[in-house]
Amino acid sequence: MNYRHGYHAGNHADVLKHAALMLLLQHLKAKPKPFFVLDTHGGRGGYDLASAEALRAGEFRHGIARLMAAGEVPAGLVPYLAAVRAANPPGALTLYPGSPLLIAGALRPEDRLVACELHPGESAALAAALRPWRRARVETRDGYGALKGVLPPPEKRGLVLIDPPFEKPDEFETLGRALREAWKRFPQGVYLVWYPLKDRAAADAFLAGVAEGGVRDATAYELYVRAPVAGGGMTGSGVLAVNGAFALDAAMAALLPFLARTLAQGPGANGAARRIAAE
Ligand code: SAM
Repeated sequence: MNYRHGYHAGNHADVLKHAALMLLLQHLKAKPKPFFVLDTHGGRGGYDLASAEALRAGEFRHGIARLMAAGEVPAGLVPYLAAVRAANPPGALTLYPGSPLLIAGALRPEDRLVACELHPGESAALAAALRPWRRARVETRDGYGALKGVLPPPEKRGLVLIDPPFEKPDEFETLGRALREAWKRFPQGVYLVWYPLKDRAAADAFLAGVAEGGVRDATAYELYVRAPVAGGGMTGSGVLAVNGAFALDAAMAALLPFLARTLAQGPGANGAARRIAAE
């Protein structure tokens, strides 16, 4: 477990994932009934953008920092940018709020969050970051195991974020299997699953496996910040939303082209939505 999200916090992948996450939370809050959120791979919660980790490649400068400087943005980005601003002093960008902080900040008193993080140091930092939120609990455990343990939630409404580090060569297979099994346990749940765009064939096999496994109402929203390079690094990422198209489709139609323009790192930047499985 060498992955530390601090090197990547606030980059283009976080922007795509967290903008979608905030839109889904907003959608869940449109109904008064309480809901549950499971964040299977929580990270440390808050990321100091002045730390050596964050400054090493300065990925946030080509992600969240560009958006904060962009002036007018599509309506779909407003909840996300408001949450990042709320975590920072006025006019500054010194801290990047990771998914558990974004979720905790969006919950109502009747909603609930369980965030899992396997790395003990990151988990301790997350527990400290979430201390002000009484409706948020941290578990130092395997997030895939938690899917089996806590789904379906008693609230019968909820959002599951699966955001693994992709350190292991078989992560796509593990992820696909975990999503299919979780969906069988809790088919009415909303799922948001992040994946890297580094190996197009591997991402396509994952998406095809999800549809073939019977998961319904699944849409992939993908953002390339430059053209794919055969055998090269991560030039983009995607989020697969299950039961989320209703909340995301219209906003993403405006957001993806805007993000491709604003976060471009070279020729070939592009954003697109793809229906993976019908309702
Ligand atoms: N979701 C976070 C966010 O958006 O701010 C970022 C998560 S980061 C991509 C992945 C995290 O998963 C790392 O902090 C890593 O330590 C943790 N991790 C790795 N394997 C795990 C596992 N099996 N279960 C739970 N956490 C794991």
